[in-house]
Amino acid sequence: MFQITLERLQTTACEPYDYLIVGAGFAGSVIAERLAAGAGKRVLLIDRRDHVGGNAYDHLDAAGVMVHRYGPHIFHTNAQRIVDYLSRFTQWRVYEHRVLAQVDGHLLPIPINLDTLNGLFGLSMNEAEAETFLAQRAEPVSMIRTSEDVVINQIGRELYEKFFQGYTRKQWGLDPSQLDKSVTARVPTRTNRDDRYFTDSLQMMPLHGYTALFERMLDQPGIEVLLGVDFTTVRERSRFRHVIFCGPIDEYFGFCLGRLPYRSLRFAHETLPQSQFQPVAVVNYPDPTVPYTRITEYKHLTGQVHPMTSISYEFPCAEGDPYYPIPRKANAELYQRYKALADATPGVTFLGRLGTYKYYNMDQVVGQALALYQRIEQATLAEEQVSVAAGK
Ligand code: FAD
Ligand code: UDP
Repeated sequence: MFQITLERLQTTACEPYDYLIVGAGFAGSVIAERLAAGAGKRVLLIDRRDHVGGNAYDHLDAAGVMVHRYGPHIFHTNAQRIVDYLSRFTQWRVYEHRVLAQVDGHLLPIPINLDTLNGLFGLSMNEAEAETFLAQRAEPVSMIRTSEDVVINQIGRELYEKFFQGYTRKQWGLDPSQLDKSVTARVPTRTNRDDRYFTDSLQMMPLHGYTALFERMLDQPGIEVLLGVDFTTVRERSRFRHVIFCGPIDEYFGFCLGRLPYRSLRFAHETLPQSQFQPVAVVNYPDPTVPYTRITEYKHLTGQVHPMTSISYEFPCAEGDPYYPIPRKANAELYQRYKALADATPGVTFLGRLGTYKYYNMDQVVGQALALYQRIEQATLAEEQVSVAAGK
């Protein structure tokens, strides 16, 4: 990976870059790699953080334990082509994510499954009995609009309050009734014993971590990486033909239509003098009196063998780095107004979780970046055909 400094950028007189890409997370890095390696373009990729990888960044902490600085990132997808693409830059470790929730003094599987129900209520139901049990508790909602509706409709109010309401209020600072149905719909309910968090056909972790994946992805002739520098600085001081912006779209436009709300997190990282802290990688705490939402123990994700272990607590908050777009109607409407502004602004394209204000997982962002590349490739081809036809 070829890094340059701001000084060098300012002092070297050279041709304009074909692309300035803002944000070295999955969105910016994938489109940078494709434009450089696939189309021979000259790309300047910047990030205001001092590392690549965006929120997927991982590193060895002071004790030598591999941790994810911005919370647990588990790769899962149903799209083989996305795994095929990323496999150019990494080998994989087989990993299926399992999560427990601390409820009423029990550690129970979440998503709720047969063992969750039996453990919580001291029962020994089979699958068919669990289905009847949930059907008796479910409160059918004719029009499912909110994150409360989704859950109540499936499992009723008691389980909703124990597993979803407190967690969601902490995570989003909003009641589930104020959030789009898509938020809690991410977490299914099961009556079998499947205790995997995700049911995607492909679930894995990059064998040597995400940062190593990014460094290989960006190690292409044609890509220069500039870290620790904000777009506003580079905007004035370098020349480029087109910008691909993977930061918050409202920030790009100076918040001229008002601020798009984001939810932030504070991570408290700790290293403990013991080899294991909890039985699985993530334990959720829906209890409203506990200030954090979940604890992650990273060694479960990475498979690292180490005499110590590192964990992180997540404390949701309103201020701080924009981690989550908040899915609700008013925000989607404001985003659409920014998108209309973006569509009418030549020379810039928006991409990624912040650039398109979408609660996307990593694989979706990779897919979005690959789709953008395909559009650019097709547009270039069409331009070339016009030039040939015109005899240029
Ligand atoms: P980001 O990774 O946010 O990258 C954007 C980059 O742009 C940042 O590095 C930022 O510093 C930079 N930037 C912004 N503005 C500017 C500017 N003005 N100038 C310079 N640089 C700028 N997904 C999964 O698939 N599985 C998971 O298990 C998972 N867990 C998650 C857990 C947490 C706590 C969070 C917050 C997200 C999780 N995700 C997970 C989602 C995943 O992080 C995102 O899908 C993915 O990282 C988005 O990539 P991106 O490039 O769009 O954005
Ligand atoms: N959720 C919950 N209880 C849980 C797990 C999830 O209420 O134990 C809700 C909560 O609103 C959360 C959403 O479901 O924000 C999506 O959960 P997911 O684990 O996908 O969130 P992420 O990993 O993106 O933070």
